[in-house]
Amino acid sequence: MSMEEINLQVYACRKCRLWQDAKHGVPGEGPLNATVMFVGQNPGADEDEQGRPFVGRAGKYLTKTLAEFGIKREDVYITNIVKHTSPQNRKPYPDEVEACLPYLSEQIGIIKPKIIVLLGASAKDTPRVEGIQYFEVIHPSAAMRFTKMRQRFRDQIAELAKKIS
Ligand code: SF4
Repeated sequence: MSMEEINLQVYACRKCRLWQDAKHGVPGEGPLNATVMFVGQNPGADEDEQGRPFVGRAGKYLTKTLAEFGIKREDVYITNIVKHTSPQNRKPYPDEVEACLPYLSEQIGIIKPKIIVLLGASAKDTPRVEGIQYFEVIHPSAAMRFTKMRQRFRDQIAELAKKIS
C-alpha cells in the first residue's frame, strides 16, 4: 500500500467508533524518506480541526524545541497511534488502538525510519520492528506544564539531535 492509499483509508475508516465524533482523520505528515519518525497517542482538538498532527500548543512547542536543537519539523514524519481524535480527548480504548494500529505498522514499513521517537503514552502500544532504534521522550504537553519535565524533555531532544547528527 502507498502512503496516499493509507491516508485515503484513514479518511474513510469506520473500523472503530472514533470517526463518529471527529471532523477529520489525521493520518500523519512528513517526508516518506524521513530518518526520524515521531509517534504520539492520538490527535487533539486542533489536530482534528486541521487534519494535521501536532499543530496545537503542544505541537508548536515540540516544533520550536526541535528547531532549537537543529531538527527541522519538515524533515521528520509525525503521526499518532490512533488516527481520529476521541471525545473530550480521552485516552483511546484498547479496541480502538487495536483497530487503528495496522495503519501505523504500514507507515513504519513505508518510511523505514532509523529512529522512532515515542511521545509519552505512545510507547506502550507502538509496534517494535527489528533494526529500528526506539527513543522514548516526555510528551511535549507535560513538558510545557512542568518545569522539571521541561528540562528533561530538552535534554532528551538534545540527545536525539546527537543521535541523528
Ligand atoms: S481511529 Fe483509526 S480505526 Fe478508528 S475509525 Fe479512525 S482510522 Fe479507523
